[in-house]
Amino acid sequence: VSEKLVVIGGDAAGMSAASQARRRRGPDDLEIVAFERGHYTSYSACGIPYYLGGVVDEFDSLIVREPEEFRRRQSIDARIRHEVIEIDLDARKVRVRNVDDGAESIEGFDILHIATGAEPIRPAWPGWDSEGIFGVQVLDHARAVEGYLRVWKPRRAVIVGGGYIGLEMAEALCARDISVTLVENAPEPMRTIDPDMGSSIREAMTKIGIDVRTGVTAEGFESRDGRVSAVATDQGEVPADIVVLGLGVQPNAQLAADAGLHIGESGGITVDRRMRTSVDGVYSAGDCAEKFHLISRKGVAIALGTHANKEGRVAGVNIGGGYETFPGVLGTAAVKVCDLEVARTGLNESEAVAAGFEFFTSLAESTTRAGYYPDAKLIKLKLVVETGSGRLLGAQIVGEENAAKRIDAFAAMLWNEMTVDEIMHVDLAYAPPFAPTWDPILIAARKAWERLEKSRGDS
Ligand SMILES: Cc1cc2nc3c(=O)[nH]c(=O)nc-3n(C[C@H](O)[C@H](O)[C@H](O)COP(=O)(O)OP(=O)(O)OC[C@H]3O[C@@H](n4cnc5c(N)ncnc54)[C@H](O)[C@@H]3O)c2cc1C
Repeated sequence: VSEKLVVIGGDAAGMSAASQARRRRGPDDLEIVAFERGHYTSYSACGIPYYLGGVVDEFDSLIVREPEEFRRRQSIDARIRHEVIEIDLDARKVRVRNVDDGAESIEGFDILHIATGAEPIRPAWPGWDSEGIFGVQVLDHARAVEGYLRVWKPRRAVIVGGGYIGLEMAEALCARDISVTLVENAPEPMRTIDPDMGSSIREAMTKIGIDVRTGVTAEGFESRDGRVSAVATDQGEVPADIVVLGLGVQPNAQLAADAGLHIGESGGITVDRRMRTSVDGVYSAGDCAEKFHLISRKGVAIALGTHANKEGRVAGVNIGGGYETFPGVLGTAAVKVCDLEVARTGLNESEAVAAGFEFFTSLAESTTRAGYYPDAKLIKLKLVVETGSGRLLGAQIVGEENAAKRIDAFAAMLWNEMTVDEIMHVDLAYAPPFAPTWDPILIAARKAWERLEKSRGDS
């Protein structure tokens, strides 16, 4: 064996890198050891709310590849229940703790790949140590929530924070006949969407019986017999038998920071376009790594599985001796909230302000199919457009079925830096079951273009 690769984190960004590296370098050339502190490797965290809500029956179907398979098929030594607790970059060693028996060991490496993911934001509020407060981030958390539901049969759940994971969990718990309250201090749930689009989310949640309380700030937790009994807020207590955190996530980068690796302003590990960190032979990818935003041109921490898989692959190609780059992200994301589909790409209003753009916004409403065709549903679109140039900076969509995936067209347009003048002529498909004659995307672009023309005429 000429070199040894150690991977920290056994999910998307970690194992896709390990697999790619193995494709290019055989076991005689590269030994690969991957450490995962949980019980599972290569799983779909994105599927957790659907499993807990009963949409997906089989827990095992969320697991793509188990350690045994990595060992047998790819000669990748994937060790679950092993947590890396220290990285020594000078000695090129990691210290590893066996989670089951606490035993510690040292593992040397030539190449290190850090893919430790993200962690739910937990402000330092009183009462954190009560049982029954869950962040949902890794597959083990799904098991933990499931166990708590089985043993304690909670009747009232409070979701603290209206991030998309919180919203998906609200719906999942509602489907289990638990009465759910969402506590959010912003004016509308889901801050990644502008508030004028977020109001539809509130309506969709309320429709299935979720009590949505916005403008309410959570401040701590009350407990009884060690178990959570209420969320304390600035407007009184909200009773809770179980609490799920939906305050967003942050890069899990402390281990890397302690080792002396450069951390970006976003809190993610600094990487270049080949996923190399500030230290030679040390790579990082996924939620723990900072991303380059293609529109704001800034480092951002955006935790999405799509990025983690792509970045992991790029890291693996480079570790394997190839050459591959990752250009950056737009933050394209979609989420289903009850009957509603919500999607976004690029910059929303507050992000466009922060990035220093001068812009205007344009709202359009249309239908997902021809108006006369059965099941035509309302779709709302919002564009953020640069003043003067007319360049698209971001798009948001809210609507019922078939609305969300239209965001992909906007993502491709952003990727190619298109202006609304160009977008309104793009040759998109039309047939009554799929779209009105003018696709909602074209209507939105045309409305924005009209604004643009007017402003050009005015100036
Ligand atoms: C409920 C939910 C829904 C989601 N839905 C979507 C979606 O619809 N679309 C989308 O694009 N993304 C979604 N995501 C985000 C997506 O799951 C993540 O972006 C993706 O899993 C990130 O992959 P990763 O490999 O970077 O990190 P992770 O998947 O978090 O994997 C990191 C792994 O590292 C392990 N680890 C951490 N520290 C150590 C250590 N010191 N030693 C050993 N092991 C360690 C962790 O246990 C974990 O298994 C969702 C996430 C959640 C939680």
